[in-house]
Amino acid sequence: MSDAAAIQKALDEIKETILKNKVTPELAATATQLVFGDGNPAAKIVFIGEAPGKNEDLQGKPFVGAAGKFLNEMLKGIGLERKDVYITNIVKYRPPNNRDPLPEEKKAFLPYLQAQLEAIQPKLVITLGRHSMNCFLPDLQISKIHGEAKRIRISMKESDDVLTIVILPLFHPAAALYNGGMRQTLIDDFAAIPDILRQIK
Ligand code: URA
Repeated sequence: MSDAAAIQKALDEIKETILKNKVTPELAATATQLVFGDGNPAAKIVFIGEAPGKNEDLQGKPFVGAAGKFLNEMLKGIGLERKDVYITNIVKYRPPNNRDPLPEEKKAFLPYLQAQLEAIQPKLVITLGRHSMNCFLPDLQISKIHGEAKRIRISMKESDDVLTIVILPLFHPAAALYNGGMRQTLIDDFAAIPDILRQIK
């Protein structure tokens, strides 16, 4: 089995476990489907958003609406396509009326997100927005540290493993879409990704 096929198999198992464990049953009851993740299982870069919106809920894939279109454009700007990266969200069901995910919903999905990262072993984890950033860097403010790569160690919830990852917090494309200043900051931070990737040992 190729590396990518083995990782995909591990990811499929994590997805099945979420369904089997009935994670956030209230969200599952109002959502169309679980939006687990999309892209290359052997990717060097993993993007983590907040939660699926309406389009994602209907199509079963993360970042397929307006924010996704903007994300695709920024990827193109650094010579990448969606099939080169892996994209997921912290919360994997659409919250009703697109409300912010609740702290307990983020907490419920965190072990599965960590398991996804352990399976993929990406060089760089890019969090989009404060919700996914705060899962890994709880005490920091995105307005202060966006664009700064940080190496962190995370203890896996389901085992004794410790995973070392490099996190790059960026603004959320949906927030930046209609805010000129934030939009340019996000585009500038994005442009630095290839250099940051090269510097990671
Ligand atoms: N916003 C997110 O955070 N995730 C999506 O999948 C879509 C929009």
